[in-house]
Amino acid sequence: CKSRHSGGGCDFYSAEMDAGFSGRFSLETAIRKGIDAHQFEVHYQPQVDGQSGEVDGVEALVRWNHPSRGLLLPAEFVQVAEDTGQIVPLGRLVLEQALRTFADWRTRGIAPGRLAVNISSQQIEQADFVPEIAGLLKQTGVPATMLELELTEHTVMRDVDRTVARLRALCELGVRVAIDDFGTGYSSLSYLERLPLDTIKIDREFVRNVCADKPDSPIVVAIVAMARGLGRKVVAEGVESETQRHYLDALGCRSMQGFLFSRPLASAAMERFLGEHLGAVL
Ligand code: C2E
Ligand code: MG
Ligand code: MG
Ligand code: MG
Repeated sequence: CKSRHSGGGCDFYSAEMDAGFSGRFSLETAIRKGIDAHQFEVHYQPQVDGQSGEVDGVEALVRWNHPSRGLLLPAEFVQVAEDTGQIVPLGRLVLEQALRTFADWRTRGIAPGRLAVNISSQQIEQADFVPEIAGLLKQTGVPATMLELELTEHTVMRDVDRTVARLRALCELGVRVAIDDFGTGYSSLSYLERLPLDTIKIDREFVRNVCADKPDSPIVVAIVAMARGLGRKVVAEGVESETQRHYLDALGCRSMQGFLFSRPLASAAMERFLGEHLGAVL
C-alpha cells in the first residue's frame, strides 16, 4: 500500500489527491469547516422488493456538497473522517438529517417501511451512542423499528464484546441492525449467530458475478441460504440487471438495492420517486 508512509489508511493518499486537497491536514480542516457550514447532505437510495417492485426502505448515503469541488462521494472523504475522528460529528449529522427527512415523509404519507443509516465503529464506541439514538427517535417521532443501522464486519469485529453490548441495547429499543458488505470482511461465522442482527446485506461484489453469460453464483446461494437458516433478512446490494434481479428472486432474496431501481437521489428527487412509486410496481 503506497500510502503507509503517510500514516493514514490505504485510501488516504488517493482520496486527498482525487478531491484535489493539498494534504491530510487540508482535507481534515476542510471537513471540519464543511460540517460547520452545512455542506454535507444526505442522499437516499431505495431498497425494493424485487418481486412486487414496492419500495420497502431507503438507505441514507452521505454526500459533500463542496463549494468549489462539487458533489463529493464518501470514497473521497469518509476514510479521512474516520482517521481523524470527524466521523463522529459527521455521522451524528447524517443520523439527524436522515431521521428528520424520514419523519417529514411520514407526515406526508410517502415514507417507506425502513430507513437504513451507515454507522462507523467510532460512533458505536461513543458512550452516549444508544441514548443519542433514543433521543433522536423521540424528537423525530420515528418508530425505532423503522430505523436500521448498517455496520460492516470490520466495525463489528473491532471490539466484539462492546459492540455486542451496544447492539443488545439498540435491540431493546427496537432498532434494527444490518451487517453491510457481507462476505468482504473477516468476521467469524460464529458471531453471526451470537449477534443480534436482523439483516445481512450481500456485498455487490458477489452480485456483480451474476451475469447473463453465467447467471450463477455459489457464494450468493450460500449467503442467502445461511441468512435464511439463521432467520435473518437478506438484502442484495448493487443489483444492476434484470438477470440479477430474477436470479436473486428465484433464490428467495426479496429485498434489493441497486442502479436497476435507482441511483442514490437527493431528498427532493427521492420524494418524487417515493410519491410516484407508492405501492406501485417498478
Ligand atoms: P455502502 O453502505 O455499501 O453503500 C452502497 C454503495 O453502493 C453506495 O455508494 C451506492 O451508491 C453504491 N451502489 C448502490 N447501488 C449500486 C449499483 O447498482 N452499482 C454500483 N456500482 N454501486 C451501487 P456510496 O454512496 O458512494 O457510498 C460508499 C460507502 O461509503 C458506503 O457503502 C458506506 O460504506 C460509506 N458511507 C456512505 N454514507 C455513509 C455515512 O453516512 N456514514 C458512514 N460511516 N459511511 C457512509
Ligand atoms: Mg450501507
Ligand atoms: Mg454495502
Ligand atoms: Mg459496499
